[in-house]
Amino acid sequence: MTVTILTLFPGLFQGYLESSILARAISRGLVGVKVVDIRSFAVDKHHVCDDAAYGGGPGMVMKPEPIAAALEGTTAPGARVVYLTPAGRPFTQRTALDLAHGPDFTLLCGRYEGIDQRVIDSFVTDEISIGDYVLSGGETAAMVVVDSVARLVPGVITGESLQEESFSEGLLEYPHYTRPEEFRGMRVPEVLLSGHHEKIRQWRLLKSVEKTERYRPELLDSEDLSSEARDLARQIRKEGDGHGRDEVT
Ligand code: SAM
Repeated sequence: MTVTILTLFPGLFQGYLESSILARAISRGLVGVKVVDIRSFAVDKHHVCDDAAYGGGPGMVMKPEPIAAALEGTTAPGARVVYLTPAGRPFTQRTALDLAHGPDFTLLCGRYEGIDQRVIDSFVTDEISIGDYVLSGGETAAMVVVDSVARLVPGVITGESLQEESFSEGLLEYPHYTRPEEFRGMRVPEVLLSGHHEKIRQWRLLKSVEKTERYRPELLDSEDLSSEARDLARQIRKEGDGHGRDEVT
């Protein structure tokens, strides 16, 4: 799969693409990332890419011509073009899965007040927000999308790691522990040392449901939950703050 990123700041991606899982996925040919400098498509002498907003207002707007030329020069007609914007649909693990299993796509990074609406109307197939806050530019949002999509591309990381992650079962993930068994008086939960796979699975599911109830209770109402997780959620909710329930040990 190849992701094309259109940006005014291509240099921001350099270190990012050269590190860790993503760099390995690129060098193994599993993922391709093409970073395109929108400014190189501006035809005027000073390569101007922004101008004042019609109707007034303090900020500048990215001009349509260089973006349109960059898209036409790099993206196949009909390809998926995602504009990263706080005014878009929230980005979730489901969106990442959808992108990872689909064809090549393009990410368009805005700057200033954003991009001319006519570019959105002509080329953009999806508007995606990575959260309810405003960044200075779409580049960090593009990194978030590329990172979360690339690790879902088959072969990039093991399928087993993906199965147990937050959101994969509609829940937040359970806590992790590694050596030593005791750190500053805190012991690793006994069940994890027991070697009893079924009890470990039950304990992890319980911890996942507890954590989800604490931080993202709305996820527990999802249809995606297994009946076992749903029963645990019901039990936790019935017991109010969770005290007094049977712990899996
Ligand atoms: N005027 C815009 C608004 O209020 O919706 C904000 C523009 S923001 C300063 C500049 C660029 O950063 C946007 O065009 C977009 O590409 C990117 N951006 C900012 N916040 C984002 C978010 N939460 N998700 C995705 N992209 C974001």
